[in-house]
Amino acid sequence: MKFVDEATIKVQAGKGGNGCMSFRREKYIPKGGPDGGDGGDGGSVFLVAAEGLNTLIDFRFTRNFRAENGEQGRGSDCTGAGGEDLVMQVPVGTTVLCEETGDVLGDLTELGQRLKVAQGGFHGLGNARFKSSINRAPRQTSPGSEGELREIKLELKVLADVGLLGLPNAGKSTFIRAVSAARPKVANYPFTTLVPNLGVVGMSGDKSFVVADIPGLIEGASEGAGLGIRFLKHLTRTRLLLHLVDMMPYDGTTPGENTLVIEQELAKFSPTLADGDRWLVLNKTDLMPEEEVEQACKNLVESINWQGPVFIISAISAQGTKALCAAIMDYIDGHRDRESIDPTLAVALEERRQQIQAEARERIEGLAEARRLARRGGEQIEGAEFDEEFEDEDDDDNDVEVVYAE
Ligand code: GDP
Ligand code: MG
Repeated sequence: MKFVDEATIKVQAGKGGNGCMSFRREKYIPKGGPDGGDGGDGGSVFLVAAEGLNTLIDFRFTRNFRAENGEQGRGSDCTGAGGEDLVMQVPVGTTVLCEETGDVLGDLTELGQRLKVAQGGFHGLGNARFKSSINRAPRQTSPGSEGELREIKLELKVLADVGLLGLPNAGKSTFIRAVSAARPKVANYPFTTLVPNLGVVGMSGDKSFVVADIPGLIEGASEGAGLGIRFLKHLTRTRLLLHLVDMMPYDGTTPGENTLVIEQELAKFSPTLADGDRWLVLNKTDLMPEEEVEQACKNLVESINWQGPVFIISAISAQGTKALCAAIMDYIDGHRDRESIDPTLAVALEERRQQIQAEARERIEGLAEARRLARRGGEQIEGAEFDEEFEDEDDDDNDVEVVYAE
């Protein structure tokens, strides 16, 4: 699923320094000539595509950026220093638009690519420049010109790095709230009120990753379980799935049963996806007596014969979430590094993605077929009543626009 992350910022280039008016004054030279220097040029604002950034989250907190002004010219023919350019790092893949006109100013598609977004002001001239045979003592100077001020919009297609699975009430939304620095809001998702919930998790340094809470397989049942499946389809690009489990279900079910419901649904949807990396995250442990937590979690893991990593958290009090996020970041970093040295990995990933898509399509078509049969027989089959348009639709045309909630 492609989310569009966006941020609007103001960039102000530096003003050019004014020219100086000055005359030479020295002990034995009473009427020295004009010696006012020029000002320096104002700094410009550039964007540069940098490595390791994958969201525009930094621009949510600071929105005004300015480059340095040029210095004024000085006497004794001293030129003012030019203002420093401001170079701002953005993720590779950022599109830059003029907020006012909507025109695309540029696409930063390659690492290191630079784009000037605001031109620095030009320097003013000192009075020495205006000296001529008819005017040997000019008192004229010119001011530096203003730097360009622009409002620009940055847009970036974001892929979720981590997908959340779990029954309704497992604590997915709470988890996202607990760990994310910014929560993009999904807009323009035309056919449903059930939308993926996104979180950008900021880690130390400039690092961050994106978590998507995909409305569940079961959650979507009233609107057609096909919907949940459709969302699942978007998980094909995530590297890691977290399976959240409520350790204290209040409806009489057991955590073990509930875990298996999701695991089986996932396997039905796509064996390839089910075969990928998935971590079990045992939630709501604040509701248990502290001394029982470990044993209960151990029992659960054994009862379902879980082989992968396990994390124990309380989303509501953010207990254990920090360690989990650090492990996720390590995992993502490790994979990015490996892919950057080994190009065959990227190919393998793409193949895997297509495989999952094919399996998903098969499953969705199967459900559509069940629905057609049900309609013919006049009966309803749960999960088979999703929209017609779901059937042949290709994932990649299905962008979801995301805007940040203020
Ligand atoms: P979702 O359906 O998976 O998105 O679940 P929610 O995040 O909406 O959580 C369902 C309910 O469980 C809410 O009332 C939450 O406040 C509660 N909840 C979620 N995480 C925890 C937790 O760690 N401890 C406790 N005590 N309650 C939690
Ligand atoms: Mg939720």
